[in-house]
Amino acid sequence: MRLVLLGPPGAGKGTQAAYIVEKFNIPHISTGDIFRKNVKEGTELGKKAKAYMDKGELVPDEVVVAIVEDRLKEDDCKEGFLLDGFPRTVTQAENLDIVLDKMNVAINKVININVNKDVLVERASGRRVCRNCGATYHIVFKPTKAENICDICGGEVYQRSDDAEATVSKRIEVYIQETQPLIKYYENKGSLVTINGEQDMDHVRKDIISALGE
Ligand code: ADP
Ligand code: ADP
Ligand code: ZN
Repeated sequence: MRLVLLGPPGAGKGTQAAYIVEKFNIPHISTGDIFRKNVKEGTELGKKAKAYMDKGELVPDEVVVAIVEDRLKEDDCKEGFLLDGFPRTVTQAENLDIVLDKMNVAINKVININVNKDVLVERASGRRVCRNCGATYHIVFKPTKAENICDICGGEVYQRSDDAEATVSKRIEVYIQETQPLIKYYENKGSLVTINGEQDMDHVRKDIISALGE
């Protein structure tokens, strides 16, 4: 299983990724998570990425591609992987194809989670994330059992600074400009499946599993 999750910010990629990687026992590669970890640890990469993330802009392609290429060469990716939030530009997709060609493998399916703008803003602005394990919650749709405490690890749950409403709107614009063209790109390759992401989490999960032929 070599999968890509495509969709605008707040569509539910991370939420669905957690289900998919558990079911298929493959690593979850989220470029957003990698950047947030580096920001938290104060690495050079983190410092570089933060400037773009805070503005709701994309980190430059060459930076992201190099990170993903290294990650895909690790042993746990041999039997498959799930890419979440990458590729995000046509240049990234073309580079991914080159990297996979060299490894003699290919993407099996690109799962496109489709959600309209007003729903995206509601989802992203209510999103809360565990500082410790990265688990994702929502103040209305998936609240923590105890206030601001992660159900899974007991860590502190916080709001991402880029989930402020103004930055979310900017990120949606960037998605439309830079990422949406990938729908055509993968449609032309015959690997795209589009899922109605406006259903509840369980229905979205079921539709994805059945689109994967399971
Ligand atoms: P993405 O990774 O695409 O940015 P997330 O998985 O982090 O999106 O989801 C964004 C927010 O919306 C989170 O707070 C999550 O709990 C919530 N969410 C995800 N899927 C659904 C859904 N199907 N219905 C309602 N809320 C959802
Ligand atoms: P969401 O799914 O809610 O948009 P992510 O966690 O995937 O959020 O990404 C957060 C931020 O990290 C993006 O706004 C961008 O600045 C940066 N980022 C993540 N993945 C990429 C990528 N593939 N290319 C460029 N920037 C990225
Ligand atoms: Zn946690």
